[in-house]
Amino acid sequence: NKDLNGKKIAVLGLGISNVAVISYLLKHDLKALGVYDTRANPPYVDDLPSGIDLRLGPLNIEELKTYDMLVVSPGLSISLPEIAAAGNAGVEIVGDVELFGREVTDVPIIGITGSNGKSTVTALVGYILEKAGIPSAVGANFGNAVFDIYSKRNRMYVLELSSFELETTSSLHLKAGVILNVSEDHLDRYEGSIDKYRDAKHRIFMHCDNIIVNRDDPRTFPANGHYAASFGLDDLSYGREETPETTYLTVNGRRVLDVKDLIICGRHNELNALAAMALADAVGIDRNVQIEALKTFPGLEHRCQLIRELDGVSYYNDSKATNVASAQAAIEGLCSRHPQGIILLAGGLGKGQDFTPLKRYLGKEVSAMFCFGKDADKLLSLDEKYTHSVLNLRQALNSAVQMARPGQAILLSPACASFDQFKGFEERGRVFVNLVRHLKADEE
Ligand code: ADP
Repeated sequence: NKDLNGKKIAVLGLGISNVAVISYLLKHDLKALGVYDTRANPPYVDDLPSGIDLRLGPLNIEELKTYDMLVVSPGLSISLPEIAAAGNAGVEIVGDVELFGREVTDVPIIGITGSNGKSTVTALVGYILEKAGIPSAVGANFGNAVFDIYSKRNRMYVLELSSFELETTSSLHLKAGVILNVSEDHLDRYEGSIDKYRDAKHRIFMHCDNIIVNRDDPRTFPANGHYAASFGLDDLSYGREETPETTYLTVNGRRVLDVKDLIICGRHNELNALAAMALADAVGIDRNVQIEALKTFPGLEHRCQLIRELDGVSYYNDSKATNVASAQAAIEGLCSRHPQGIILLAGGLGKGQDFTPLKRYLGKEVSAMFCFGKDADKLLSLDEKYTHSVLNLRQALNSAVQMARPGQAILLSPACASFDQFKGFEERGRVFVNLVRHLKADEE
């Protein structure tokens, strides 16, 4: 990108995205490059090329004002006083996705945001493109930095975009973009305001050829009311038709797929599949290729994954459900498969969330809930009859196994973060899967 030549640029915040940005910037003829991190011992220092001007500790407003451009990591808020002051003084503020969009002007980019389901839809669209034989790459919030997936060979990109990444994105041109849903999350970064969080997400539609919204979630609709397609629970546009035997995914009222043919399960995943189809249509992927891909997409680990069936009981790992809305999605998604009831394993760090939305499932879709971890008490206080206190995940599983009857599901969907007892949701999920794999069948 020739516009970068001759500029004095500061990269703020060391994370995987900015480490890749630094390599990208070094290919230019910059006037100067400074790298800053407010932490004394930031990660990735060893990954930096030699000769980098790295400055650690508090940011200095006067120093930042001397730059032409700041590349801010999604981990830092652009409303930090030092960054905001530099911005007010005329310093351009961008993130890696914005720089990527300025570089990639010749191939289509698909963008996906939302409070829940981003990674699943991103992976699914990437999988559909792969089955369609299109050289493409997925990245951004998905876990790999955009400048790590950048290659002249790619004919398309699929980007998972968080609200933080969108805050620093102003000219990104998308061939198709979707907001999957907007529910309470990350409000600590938005002064407690869901409107501010929603506004950040809506930046995805600023230069978007095909806007896709969730019909059932008005917060996903653009302010001017114009969009290309919608997905939702009914049978309009990209939708669903429920019959007594099964549910079909539909496009403009026509059945295209029986959900029994999907590996990913639950109503929320049916919506994810519909969103992926709408995006794939917007970039011209053949419907038959889409359907074949949907039938074999294995889903992502730790998201409502069926691990095993044993003695008629199904075991699901949904460790990625770190908030109440995602646990609700799992319960609502699985309840029609398991009318005999779900035994829920939940708990961990509640992050100050209100758990009351879970109360209405107790004694109905959820026949029992075993609660562990730091905020177990808050879950236990929802109800006396259907909740049980246990020390940890292992105890929760063992007690659930004792109680479960054929046809029921045992679901780990904790509605909480995991850091009180685990390194992260992946470890929590792996521990669960391991315990489940070692369960022995009942000896008759
Ligand atoms: P994200 O990348 O947005 O965190 P994931 O695809 O990793 O989303 O899914 C996270 C959790 O959210 C899953 O465990 C699942 O229970 C729930 N989930 C997935 N898709 C949806 C959806 N469309 N609506 C609500 N919840 C969802």
